[in-house]
Amino acid sequence: LTTADLIDEEHRICVCVRARPLNKKELTMKDLDVITIPSKDVVMVHEPKQKVDLTRYLENQTFRFDYAFDDSTDNDMVYRFTARPLVETIFERGMATCFAYGQTGSGKTHTMGGDFSGKNQDCSKGIYALAARDVFLMLKKPNYKKLDLNVFATFFEIYSGKASDVTNISSTKLRVVLEDGKQQVQVVGLQERDVKCTEDVLKLIEVGNSCRTSGQTSANAHSSRSHAVFQIILRRRGKMHGKFSLIDLAGNERGADTSSADRQTRLEGAEINKSLLALKECIRALGRNKPHTPFRASKLTQVLRDSFIGENSRTCMIATISPGMASCENTLNTLRYANRVK
Ligand code: ADP
Ligand code: MG
Repeated sequence: LTTADLIDEEHRICVCVRARPLNKKELTMKDLDVITIPSKDVVMVHEPKQKVDLTRYLENQTFRFDYAFDDSTDNDMVYRFTARPLVETIFERGMATCFAYGQTGSGKTHTMGGDFSGKNQDCSKGIYALAARDVFLMLKKPNYKKLDLNVFATFFEIYSGKASDVTNISSTKLRVVLEDGKQQVQVVGLQERDVKCTEDVLKLIEVGNSCRTSGQTSANAHSSRSHAVFQIILRRRGKMHGKFSLIDLAGNERGADTSSADRQTRLEGAEINKSLLALKECIRALGRNKPHTPFRASKLTQVLRDSFIGENSRTCMIATISPGMASCENTLNTLRYANRVK
């Protein structure tokens, strides 16, 4: 291994944490902020009274990540340190993935920018749009311009172990075909949409969102139980050149639904658990250069199979956390999971 290889290995997986500010509801309930981010890569979870006394550092639960973003960090900054470096990867014939992982309400969709329903949401400033913007900028660079690449996008969701295209309201269920010899994955029925500019991408996300939530009693209940997968694909003369998958995962607290009285909820919870565990194992396998990637265990890891293998695959996880004491247990679960992914 050369020094360059070593650096590359180290940078294959980037794990970050992002804390959001206390929201109105938490403030009304007089919930207390239990998170401190004392430096750019450390997160502490502690009793509020200890917050001012950093000498008690060791008594708190302390986690270290590649980056820790506090509640004053905006999407642009988060993007710059997470997904931005991965844009280059897909131009260099690689596979990139960026996950938002965390409990419902912790800021996954806010970070990814995949929600047009809220009045306060500005999707043009989420990671989906920022990554798309940079893909179109990179295309203009002389090095890449001469490759004559075409950009396509897909948007689909995985709900209860079933994948469906959300860019087409009448689409049928998607079928995942694993081509063992080529270690590739084919999602039969998934529409690759031609996109020429960032606006095209934003329109597609808007269509996808209305499609995801139509017929749902509560948009949030649905999104908390499904994984949303948005992909930017580069093709050269029809052949895949690189692929960037941006994923807004189901709320990780849903795994606890396995003891719910409602059978459907229980099954969904079990499915979410299974997929998040499989995801963790696949990312770990990627980081350790293991010959075998345990991708079969869930639909999510099956569709991402080709992103977990190969020399030039890179992954970034953004673990989002709620700062309130009331969310403490979920927050610790999120931080432990993110810690294990490393
Ligand atoms: P999730 O997708 O994880 O369920 P959301 O992204 O929908 O959570 O966030 C829940 C609420 O919190 C939204 O109203 C969102 O706008 C707000 N929010 C999330 N993260 C931030 C942040 N970093 N700064 C300000 N508001 C945020
Ligand atoms: Mg969401």
